[in-house]
Amino acid sequence: MESVRLLRLTSRVWLHKFALVFLTIVFLTLIFKALKSSKQTASQNVSNERYDGEKDDEDEHGLAEATSSENYGVCQQPNEVGNMFQEWSKTNQTPLIIITPTYERSEQTAELTRLSQTLQLLIWAQMPLIWIIAHDSRVCHENVRALIDRKLGSNPFGNRQELQGHKNYNRPLVGTRLPVTILSAPMPSAFRDPERVRRFGLPRGVAGRRAALSWLIKHTRANDPGVIYFADDDNVYDLEVFEEISKTHRLSMFPVGLLQPSGVRGPIVDVHGRVIGFLGGRRPFRMFPVDMAGFAFSLALLHQKRPLMPFRATMEEEGFLRALGVDYGGIEPLANNCTRILVWHTMTAAPQVNSFQIPNPSGYSDTNLPLLAQNMVEQGLIKAAKGWFSHDIPTCLGQTCYT
Ligand code: UDP
Ligand code: MN
Repeated sequence: MESVRLLRLTSRVWLHKFALVFLTIVFLTLIFKALKSSKQTASQNVSNERYDGEKDDEDEHGLAEATSSENYGVCQQPNEVGNMFQEWSKTNQTPLIIITPTYERSEQTAELTRLSQTLQLLIWAQMPLIWIIAHDSRVCHENVRALIDRKLGSNPFGNRQELQGHKNYNRPLVGTRLPVTILSAPMPSAFRDPERVRRFGLPRGVAGRRAALSWLIKHTRANDPGVIYFADDDNVYDLEVFEEISKTHRLSMFPVGLLQPSGVRGPIVDVHGRVIGFLGGRRPFRMFPVDMAGFAFSLALLHQKRPLMPFRATMEEEGFLRALGVDYGGIEPLANNCTRILVWHTMTAAPQVNSFQIPNPSGYSDTNLPLLAQNMVEQGLIKAAKGWFSHDIPTCLGQTCYT
């Protein structure tokens, strides 16, 4: 009896002790967690948002897609890409590899027309060049292929038949065609999730650039010559920027104009021609606050480092440049030691076009309007000709106007 009571007593004491230890552990854990989170908020206040590259995307947001192999389709590519690079390596000129992400919207035709004609001038100036267009889309778009074909074809001035007989028809046309690869490279759907977009923004053009780099790695060799440049479809490029870029050995940088808040973003270069800092980047924790259009790198460096661009808005350049593993001392300043601006971050404002409706059929069917509307649809300026409706756009027939 006595021993049973003793046993009960000791077990109760142990129970108390256990409860005490348990409560202490819980208490300490809570304090530790509270301290940790307050420390995090403090460091976030200093750095706003600490960048940790791919790991960040994967670990923090569980987005395995961020590192999955690129998911793209080839809509068009030049014949014998490998041979092309081999031929180039026999000359003493450095081939330029221009990567342009693009997506469907009403300005797309205008942007691609401007850029393709800029690049056509380089071909006429006999620069070795390949253009990789990566369409943010699951499918290949015939209108983009046709546009590129028309603009970079044997006669970018237009249809020969239409021009025949015209007094200016005999224009001197240079035969060389710009080799173009067109990829379909959709942004993984997880990055379009509204909640994620609200928190982190949209990683614009990242899927396209990554796909283009994957395509390049597959079709070139590590010792092939070449300099890679990310040329977004909406910027304006002075031809001289391409001349400058071709001087790149490993990683070059130069200023980009029309960026907020200072009108420019780019390296600060000392009297010895060394990069010592950056102008225009507002986040102190960024090592390379440069714009996508403000740097170029060698094909060899791509093969060597296989850098991935993070699917993180405002951090695309930073993550990519860190992955290239070049420090300030290794950056080659171009554009006369970063004193000249040869590329501008222009942004085209989208027009407010709700619908385009051709007025009253009887009055207009014999006019230019039906064909005009059809061409607008082909260009992506309007979604589709909605048929015949009356007086939705301001129109005048003779003296009679409708609004
Ligand atoms: N882009 C894309 N998919 C998108 C949005 C943009 O492929 O959903 C392309 C766009 O055509 C451009 C580049 O990514 O070549 C950068 O986009 P944008 O110019 O809209 O961004 P910003 O220059 O304002 O950062
Ligand atoms: Mn842009």
